[in-house]
Amino acid sequence: MQQTLDAAVVLLSGGQDSATCLAWALRRYQRIHAVTFDYGQRHKIELDAAATISTMAGVSQSVIPCNSFTALGGNALTGTEAVSATVRADSQLPNTFVPGRNLIFITLAAACAYQRGITEIVTGICQTDYSGYPDCRMDTMVALQEALRRGMEAPFTIHTPLMRLDKAATWSLAERLGGQALVDLVIEETVTCYEGDRTHRHAWGYGCGACPACQLRLRGYEHFATR
Ligand SMILES: [Zn+2]
Repeated sequence: MQQTLDAAVVLLSGGQDSATCLAWALRRYQRIHAVTFDYGQRHKIELDAAATISTMAGVSQSVIPCNSFTALGGNALTGTEAVSATVRADSQLPNTFVPGRNLIFITLAAACAYQRGITEIVTGICQTDYSGYPDCRMDTMVALQEALRRGMEAPFTIHTPLMRLDKAATWSLAERLGGQALVDLVIEETVTCYEGDRTHRHAWGYGCGACPACQLRLRGYEHFATR
């Protein structure tokens, strides 16, 4: 494997976190390739947002079909179940938890990186948020990185610049990286809302304002804007 440390693969969902990570990576690497997963998410506007952001950033993008999650069932982001902050009946996790999703996404991103001679992988996962998803924790990332290194015999590094940031700090990071222009881009172009609402515009961006993702985003923004 011909390797380069001046390039990175960025997982780009079209949301606030991954867009901020893309800006973070643009400051560090000369060449970026964005990877977006079409996993049967309920709202295609996330895919549209990821494509728009890639184009605006001037980076190449792969959209990788990964639609097994719908067939597996049992969560609110790929099925018809209502999104709520309530926990799944079988665990302490919210019904927005998609089992295995981040593990599979990062593994596929590593495979994509491998094909391009890239070892640096950037993801916006974060263990600070309300959700407590076990596949967003640092110890999971350390273990996955080791598995990828062994399984593909390549010196992968998984970068998680948001791991210990809350949402207010993520807004601040965007401002630090790209000033008000980047904050405005996050507001205008990224999609966070579980309902896929692009009709209601708020100071913090588009969304229903009521779902757990909108609540988290708006509280973070308020904290950021009034600091
Ligand atoms: Zn919402």
